[in-house]
Amino acid sequence: MEKTLSIIKPDAVKKNVIGKIIDRFESNGLRVAAIKKIQLSRADAEAFYAVHKERPFFGELVEFMISGPVVVSVLEGENAVAKNRELMGATDPKEAAPGTIRADFAESIDANAVHGSDSLENAEKEIAFFFAQREIL
Ligand code: GDP
Repeated sequence: MEKTLSIIKPDAVKKNVIGKIIDRFESNGLRVAAIKKIQLSRADAEAFYAVHKERPFFGELVEFMISGPVVVSVLEGENAVAKNRELMGATDPKEAAPGTIRADFAESIDANAVHGSDSLENAEKEIAFFFAQREIL
């Protein structure tokens, strides 16, 4: 069993599709082990996306991630990291496979509905960034 971190980004929260996105996870073998709706501060977003700080889109990414509340969750299941990435679809929704979350709910490469950890190592770090051990059940 693996655990991964998911974020439903501000665009999808504003569209009122939290439940529809969670249903994709639950219908495909992933279980919600922890979940909360939060407003990220600028410092939170900059720290969470620190690996991207030299990229030209870093400023836009931070602005977007603090533009409204997000829903962070820990998803658990077999191959949870890869399974979540498969359900999410490609970063750019124009390239996302039909039926993926980004194909169905995302507007653009920055407003792309969801984040998912890209490795088991990053999943552990990202889960610890948002959740205390006692919140993961
Ligand atoms: P992910 O793992 O599929 O989310 O993609 P990355 O780790 O490569 O990028 C992190 C996030 O940065 C993406 O989900 C996008 O929201 C954003 N991003 C990536 N590339 C671009 C870009 O070219 N322009 C903008 N504005 N945002 C981008």
